[in-house]
Amino acid sequence: MGNLVAVVGRPNVGKSTFFNRLVGGRVAIVDEFSGVTRDRHYGRTEWNGVEFGVIDTGGYVQGSDDIFEAEIRKQVEIAIDESNVIIFLVDVTSGITDLDDRVARLLRKSKKPVFVAVNKVDDPVHIIDTYVFHQFGIGEELFNISSMTGSGTGDLLDAVVKSFDNKAETEDTTGLPRFAVVGKPNVGKSSFINSLLGTDRNIVTDIAGTTRDSIDTHYKGYGFDFLLVDTAGVRKKSKVSEDLEFYSVMRTIRAIEDCDVVILLIDAAEGIGAQDINIFHLAERNNKGVVIMVNKWDLIEKDHKTADLFEEVIREKIAPFKDVPIIFTSVLTKQRIFKTLETAVAVYENKNKRIKTSELNEFLLPLIERNPPPATKGKYIKIKYITQLPVPNVPTFAFFCNLPQYVAESYKRFLENRMREEFDFTGVPISLFFRQK
Ligand code: GDP
Ligand code: GDP
Repeated sequence: MGNLVAVVGRPNVGKSTFFNRLVGGRVAIVDEFSGVTRDRHYGRTEWNGVEFGVIDTGGYVQGSDDIFEAEIRKQVEIAIDESNVIIFLVDVTSGITDLDDRVARLLRKSKKPVFVAVNKVDDPVHIIDTYVFHQFGIGEELFNISSMTGSGTGDLLDAVVKSFDNKAETEDTTGLPRFAVVGKPNVGKSSFINSLLGTDRNIVTDIAGTTRDSIDTHYKGYGFDFLLVDTAGVRKKSKVSEDLEFYSVMRTIRAIEDCDVVILLIDAAEGIGAQDINIFHLAERNNKGVVIMVNKWDLIEKDHKTADLFEEVIREKIAPFKDVPIIFTSVLTKQRIFKTLETAVAVYENKNKRIKTSELNEFLLPLIERNPPPATKGKYIKIKYITQLPVPNVPTFAFFCNLPQYVAESYKRFLENRMREEFDFTGVPISLFFRQK
């Protein structure tokens, strides 16, 4: 998985301000997921062309100093566990407080790079007050920044990005499909992964990623060749159960961002719920391929109609993007495990499919001729030709026409559905653009 930077520090030093400066509007909506109520944030950003995730471990904690300290300790420990690089934020206007000292003590044990950023240095007159922070004995230099004005943040980010430990991977895995196994707790993710990896250790290799905690697994065997994204994170159970939910949501988000195809597990006994649907939409919004794996199918009493009914309910709930494969599995009895993988591979291929312009036009132009777009406000829309744009990973089609602004949503859906029937984009979001010609 990609690099992750954690911003730690006591309340009021400016963590959220700094985080917002980095991430801007690109904050992942963690709150959508049930159970995550604390004010903590995860987002993605980019510096000098290097993309990375950022967490603000913030979360204002109320209570006595003891509770406060315990809470911060927990946040720092998790930051050390989960991230690749830590930014320790302190406040030049208050100097070193007891709490800063305690955070520093925890961070000195970290084997990961820690950068001390002295915040609120809005004006050069403050620089004299920054030297005191050398006392921490963390890192080689202090970074004086102002989260408010942005001054100094560039130098800090230069250093952060440079410290990402992008060890040469032991093998070249570019071009391999990347699958992420996601789903709510207890749905069978670890069992599924273990059933793949446990059978024959010779067919899997752990790919050293950026840190020990982010390891992609290369699966090669039985005709398959793909990467499982962040399976280590799934296997590892966090020591800190209170924070499990936030981090499991964050991992889900990161795994989705980093993969090509999401294998979304749903519990057959519980049916599809709000959290499953949130994960589905997250995959869709990120333009990822999706396979829905209804697991624990062994627990269901069924007749010949049960699967169809189940499918119907799922499709209704995930509408309008319904063209998604749904596989009924039991990890326990090993039913349809390989079928799921075959389907994920097929979705990956659909995602990278390119349709020739001639093929598109031969199919679509007569179809449009027979079913022209309805005239809006007395205007007739004429679609002249269609071509697939060279957008990587997302099948994207441009329809050149005279009045793109008048093409109704319902007509776009009609075209999309017919294209899905003709060319097979099962499991993949596709984009249709209408452009003036
Ligand atoms: P957090 O509790 O660590 O997340 O801190 P916040 O980001 O909420 O900031 C606490 C206060 O410090 C807010 O009033 C901010 O406006 C202020 N603040 C943050 N960064 C700066 C800065 O660079 N300069 C100044 N002067 N104030 C800042
Ligand atoms: P995770 O939290 O998503 O990783 O879920 P686990 O893999 O830890 O599984 C949670 C529980 O569900 C365990 O007790 C598994 O043995 C059980 N389980 C997993 N897959 C199946 C299945 O296909 N059928 C049944 N009956 N139980 C399953």
